[in-house]
Amino acid sequence: MAAKAQNPDQFDYVVVGAGSAGCLVANRLSADPKNRVLLLEAGKADTYPWIHIPVGYLYCIGNPRTDWMYKTQPDKGLNGRSLLYPRGKALGGCSSINGMIYMRGQARDYDNWAQLTGEDAWSWESSLNDFKAHEDHYRLDDGADPVTGNNSRFSDMHGHGGEWRVESQRLRWDVLDSFADAAVQAGIDKTDDFNSGDNAGVGYFDVNQRSGWRWNTSKAFLRPAKSRPNLVVWTEAQVQKLTFEQGADGQQRCSGAVVSRAGETVTVAATGEVILSAGAVNSPQILQLSGIGPAGLLNSHGIDVVLDAPSVGENLQDHLQIRAVFKVKGTKTLNTLANSLFGKAKIGLEYMLKRSGPMSMSPSQLGAFTRSDPGRAHANLEYHVQPLSLEAFGEDLHDFPAMTVSVCNLNPTSRGNIRIGSPDFREPPLISPNYLDTDEDRKIAANSLWQVREIMAQPAMQAYEPEEFKPGVQYQSDDELARLAGDIASTIFHPTGTIKMGRPDDPSAVLDPHLRLKGITGLRVVDASVMPEITSGNTNAPTLMIAEKAAGWILSGE
Ligand SMILES: Cc1cc2nc3c(=O)[nH]c(=O)nc-3n(C[C@H](O)[C@H](O)[C@H](O)COP(=O)(O)OP(=O)(O)OC[C@H]3O[C@@H](n4cnc5c(N)ncnc54)[C@H](O)[C@@H]3O)c2cc1C
Repeated sequence: MAAKAQNPDQFDYVVVGAGSAGCLVANRLSADPKNRVLLLEAGKADTYPWIHIPVGYLYCIGNPRTDWMYKTQPDKGLNGRSLLYPRGKALGGCSSINGMIYMRGQARDYDNWAQLTGEDAWSWESSLNDFKAHEDHYRLDDGADPVTGNNSRFSDMHGHGGEWRVESQRLRWDVLDSFADAAVQAGIDKTDDFNSGDNAGVGYFDVNQRSGWRWNTSKAFLRPAKSRPNLVVWTEAQVQKLTFEQGADGQQRCSGAVVSRAGETVTVAATGEVILSAGAVNSPQILQLSGIGPAGLLNSHGIDVVLDAPSVGENLQDHLQIRAVFKVKGTKTLNTLANSLFGKAKIGLEYMLKRSGPMSMSPSQLGAFTRSDPGRAHANLEYHVQPLSLEAFGEDLHDFPAMTVSVCNLNPTSRGNIRIGSPDFREPPLISPNYLDTDEDRKIAANSLWQVREIMAQPAMQAYEPEEFKPGVQYQSDDELARLAGDIASTIFHPTGTIKMGRPDDPSAVLDPHLRLKGITGLRVVDASVMPEITSGNTNAPTLMIAEKAAGWILSGE
């Protein structure tokens, strides 16, 4: 263990970024009063009211109070469009603005990581312990497994009593119930647990909420640690770059960070480790600004090369949601409710009195996982079905009743990158997701739109007389649908993989299997950037699992 720090700007551990991973790591490291921990967050405290009201998601995205306000580079696969690329900027990071869906992915994702890294600890069996370690699952609130009694179907898979609350949603919609029935008619079984290692099926998502309020990582992991004198949290403290010194072993050692805080530039020192948890967009940006990245890129911006690491910022993977919109009749949707004064008042009242109704809703409530074609061995599509529609997030809801059937390819083969466009830390990095770059991804995009049509044509949906608004029934060939997917698709906010881990001898891996940066001592990356391949589902729960595992390794010096 590192020696106890004496200097006020000197700590055992400096954690950069108080997002999903950073809050958990700071909690675990500061649990031992001997460790002096500094947590640095560029955003403000999570005191903005819309963070906590679930539907406030719509007001946190595209709002500089809570969002970094990034945009992607124009993307060929999206027919030249750029996308708004929200990233949480506040205590809690993206967990303060995300859709709150609790989704681990599939067991095979983690078994694949174990193979790619040669480290068995990444296997599903071992990772399950780390998921459960911080979980507080509503189904286990009453002790015995509520559905199966002594049979432990849920209790084997879920934890209880941890910091990370998982609850069921507090409202249902007829049109979503009918979509679930239609999915069954189209051959997708119902499921009551997406988080048991195989998420195939259709059902309502479980969410990170407590009694109708958003549950972010700041509430879960920082509040309980707030009174610890050995944990210091600085908000509005943006790391400009990391600092290095020559270590005793002759290797470069990460010694701390240069921070912009309250108009001043301060340097903080870490005698133990610096943990970079600034997320899959900002962590590679910080490494590149610090001189760790592709030498050519760094040279072109006049940055001294500390370590030529060509893969830093590469391997960007994201889930692209293709948003098919259907007009519906004879049922309520959020469009009609939220567009009338009476509807708005009713929504507000329902939330005030019961903490339920549309204000308690996560944007995507119903989900389905299935295969894009029968030849596949496992589910490779995820549906997010919403009782609302809009042109793009940040814009008004349509003024006609409609639902959105959003579908994404869970295992894209296209790869993008994050590269600095300037040596100035205040400038946003260039984000190039490179969606739909491969023939396989375009083929799956077309297949998934055919499948959406098949589900919407099932008897269970016919009462609503669904009319395809986007992409539009006039498009009837694979080529047209793949191209149209580029017009109507958007990110589902899951950038990962930009500082990937791998086997120690894998030249494309920036990190070793325990997330230590190869070629530099005293520096670990712990966030969504480390995933060598994106998980088959939403990425917050996997990021917390990564943080739980990494914290154990940091504490044991492994
Ligand atoms: C709009 C949206 C909806 C989503 N919906 C879901 C969902 O429903 N379910 C799900 O599982 N996943 C969802 N995700 C994805 C999920 O939330 C992320 O994968 C996860 O939060 C990533 O965690 P992280 O720790 O890697 O990064 P983050 O949570 O982004 O944390 C990074 C932190 O570092 C800070 N930071 C960055 N740069 C600096 C710097 N230079 N100095 C100091 N601090 C810095 C940031 O402000 C931020 O607080 C969503 C994401 C978004 C944006």
